[in-house]
Amino acid sequence: MQGYRASLLWFAPPDGGAPRALFEEDGLLVVGPDAQGRQVVQAIGAFGAVAAQYPQVPVQHFPGRIIAPGFVDMHIHYPQIDVIGSPASGLLPWLENYTFPEENRFSEPTHSAQAATFFIAELLRNGVTTALTFATSHTESVNALLAEAQARHMRMITGLVLMDRHAPTYLLNQGQGSLSGTEQSLRDTESLIQRWHGVDRLGYAITPRFAPTSTDAQLGGAGELAARYPDVWIQSHVAENKDEIAWARDLFPGSRSYLATYDDFGLMRQRAIYAHCIHFDDDDRALMRDTGAAAAVSPTSNLFLGSGFFDYEGADRVGYRYGLASDVGGGTSFSPFHTMLATYYVGREGQTKPGLSLSPQHLWWQHTAGAAAALGLAGENGAPSVGNLLPGCEADFIVLNPQATPLLARKTARANSLDELLFSLIVLGDDRAVEQTVISQAL
Ligand SMILES: [Zn+2]
Repeated sequence: MQGYRASLLWFAPPDGGAPRALFEEDGLLVVGPDAQGRQVVQAIGAFGAVAAQYPQVPVQHFPGRIIAPGFVDMHIHYPQIDVIGSPASGLLPWLENYTFPEENRFSEPTHSAQAATFFIAELLRNGVTTALTFATSHTESVNALLAEAQARHMRMITGLVLMDRHAPTYLLNQGQGSLSGTEQSLRDTESLIQRWHGVDRLGYAITPRFAPTSTDAQLGGAGELAARYPDVWIQSHVAENKDEIAWARDLFPGSRSYLATYDDFGLMRQRAIYAHCIHFDDDDRALMRDTGAAAAVSPTSNLFLGSGFFDYEGADRVGYRYGLASDVGGGTSFSPFHTMLATYYVGREGQTKPGLSLSPQHLWWQHTAGAAAALGLAGENGAPSVGNLLPGCEADFIVLNPQATPLLARKTARANSLDELLFSLIVLGDDRAVEQTVISQAL
């Protein structure tokens, strides 16, 4: 067992009310193996009280630092590390001119492996310890990312992009032998699930890019796999952009809405994560709630591509799950601090009822415990628990330096409350504030 002494930030267990952060100025976090040999939190609280319970445990001291849960990124594209910051007039031209040509490079295992190494290092440098990630339509891209994540003991979920129409031919799922591209993509998906899902800390996500780039046969096959493997994730995009919505409505006129298309193909359930979820009506919101699907809110991407804004009032009124995501490379930063700040802006100006002020604790929760709950990784029904430091949670955490820059040091020194401290970090923080990222390791 190992103890870590520092200021500690974590979240109270959900009680139906607003998320509540807990803070201990001089705290002790004790980490040790559980029955399966995974490193989990054994105890957390005031230094004096916890140290008295664990007198033999060696303690590493981080004076002036804050230990907090590792961040959870609900939606990011690892093949887009070189697409970040590319100018485009909107989503569809951005895909065509930058993203699709870049993704083609991932048919090369060497390129995929190099990109995966960079990508995971960048996540960890920014304090992100769990990510639901898009790969490309090449199995090589999935294998490379999961192999690298396994070597780093990271909790990573990804999957083969399903795309059998309406994209450049070189990126469509390719057939082999007598199998069509569609059939092969479904067969590959199942093989990848069997190879990777549940191995160490890895998970698989059935990944239709979005409804317009899949045929009915591919979406139907994906839905069958989702039913056969109920604890596998599903990830896709929905209702990001008005042109995209019009296109999806043309292609699937029998569905009540763009979102309902996914439901019609069996792709909405617990652990189904849809990026964006911007242009929804209340029937869509109720469908999210009733199926247990969750939204990956991606504010820097939505601002960058001019897509619109996630409606917090609507989501909370109807009551469905959501959490934060960088959506790199449509998103502009790996940093959870930048994403939380962009979320705050979206709350202020992007709502049907303007002037919403998302609290610092709520912003932070959306990128940690809230995101984990939305992913089905909050310990319910025997699932692993991440994004928090309650006893039993996997010991993924970050060590933050609130003095990382002169302005941050000056501002955080004046904080009179937890909200003031967290908001200073959200507004002024970035990768410089993340001094260390510690990943839970099996013994
Ligand atoms: Zn995306």
